[in-house]
Amino acid sequence: MKTTAIIGGGFSGTLAAINLVRFAQTPQQVVIINSGRPFGRGTAYGTTRREHLLNVASRNMSAFPDQPEHFFHWLRSRCEFDSIPDDQLRETFIPRQVYGDYVRGMATHYLGTHDPRSIVTCKVIEDTAIDVQSRGENGGTVILEQGSPIEAESIVLATGNQPPAGLPGARKLLNDRRYCGNPWKDWHTNLPADDQHIVILGTGLTAVDVIVTLRNKGWGGRITAISRNGMLPQRHFRGIEWPSIVPDDGQHRSLEELSKLVRQDCERLRGISQNPAITVDKLRGRTQQLWKGLTLQEKQRFLKDHSAHWNVIRHRIAGPIHDAVTDALDCGQLTILPATIQSLTAEENSIEVQVITSEGESQTVHGDMIINCTGPKARFSDSGIPLYRNLFDHGLAHPDAMDMGIAVDDHFAVLDQSDIPSKFLYAIGPILKGTLWETIAVPELRQQAMQVAQTVLEQKPITIAEPETIEYCI
Ligand SMILES: Cc1cc2nc3c(=O)[nH]c(=O)nc-3n(C[C@H](O)[C@H](O)[C@H](O)COP(=O)(O)OP(=O)(O)OC[C@H]3O[C@@H](n4cnc5c(N)ncnc54)[C@H](O)[C@@H]3O)c2cc1C
Repeated sequence: MKTTAIIGGGFSGTLAAINLVRFAQTPQQVVIINSGRPFGRGTAYGTTRREHLLNVASRNMSAFPDQPEHFFHWLRSRCEFDSIPDDQLRETFIPRQVYGDYVRGMATHYLGTHDPRSIVTCKVIEDTAIDVQSRGENGGTVILEQGSPIEAESIVLATGNQPPAGLPGARKLLNDRRYCGNPWKDWHTNLPADDQHIVILGTGLTAVDVIVTLRNKGWGGRITAISRNGMLPQRHFRGIEWPSIVPDDGQHRSLEELSKLVRQDCERLRGISQNPAITVDKLRGRTQQLWKGLTLQEKQRFLKDHSAHWNVIRHRIAGPIHDAVTDALDCGQLTILPATIQSLTAEENSIEVQVITSEGESQTVHGDMIINCTGPKARFSDSGIPLYRNLFDHGLAHPDAMDMGIAVDDHFAVLDQSDIPSKFLYAIGPILKGTLWETIAVPELRQQAMQVAQTVLEQKPITIAEPETIEYCI
């Protein structure tokens, strides 16, 4: 019987396992190794806060590319949505906790050992994988922090989102109750008094989660959110039917050519009083292909000059979430400070955040609580994660050319130090960011989870075309 070990039990790893069960034709064993975040829910859907909503409308959140209505039909089984008409429910941004119930429920259904007729046996191990060693033609061995090694014919890396990068001075604050280095932990059980000041490092989606929770808890103190660009995510909107600016002709286009097309398209949309973000939405299905067609220098230039702008437009938030943030700004509770964070220092009465403002001036911000919502470390090779450090040391994997994750081929096989695709080691999810750019949300991850399962099962992977986006909220 063939064994597949999956490292990471968030959406990607859980769906890879579920697809192994769905498509298996011969007896298989699946072992999921997960730690850190709740199995099935992972980082995004393991939130304990009901006010955290999906940032993708429910109609586009099916876990299966071949069953686009799956999540919508599942939602219909929940009594709290009974009174919402179908067309409205499809456009609703559901609490992320509920989405976690969906994935976790499917895990129970597909991966539970209740059905004696099932030809796949599954096991979930709560442990951290710290190494993978090759067994030549026989696959590899996963080394765990605590448990016994696991031998497997195939191994899938689905380790997901990395926590925020450490900041200068943060190491000394690790035992300081006023500092939260991981915003996905329950920091909100330990809030300062209402007359105090919370400083959020970052202004992206995770910072928005924090602001919304503070509002929801009725916390009345001051909030300052600091990031280099000072830009908050934009709001979802209903757009219009609009052609994509880039024909699907497989032709290579330079960054300059693409930037020009995007600028012209945005102008056309502004000219008819439409949101220029439609241009970015219409590129969604082609983004991976366009990214792969850029040279390394072009990718680096995109990252430096355009990515911040791209992110606030592409990763938009649900209306009610945007309203909560706007209210916080309007009433003066929330201030956005465009500045580069230099260092953090613990003082007796506060934590000092030293910054250089966008005008180039040094400034010190005093916070009674600091929450780090910045992105992962800029260079993946510096992340120091034992699993990847060991994989790089053994030459079984190497960082992608952008150093944002690891290098894989078109079938998700990990490339070794000589760029040869592994015969047993695969990777899916946000760790492919440097290779694919668009690889962090469910619409892409469900495809990857299904394809990698079919590859492991030695079946010809079926790619289901994602529906053309004519409405937005993706
Ligand atoms: C706050 C937030 C909100 C989001 N909202 C949406 C949304 O509304 N819609 C959408 O489409 N996408 C959303 N996303 C994108 C999200 O990344 C994906 O939808 C998806 O959850 C990613 O799943 P994953 O399994 O790849 O990663 P993760 O969810 O990060 O799961 C990886 C799991 O592997 C574990 N792990 C890591 N390393 C090891 C190891 N060495 N050993 C054992 N276990 C390990 C982790 O602890 C974790 O449990 C959101 C992301 C975040 C962070």
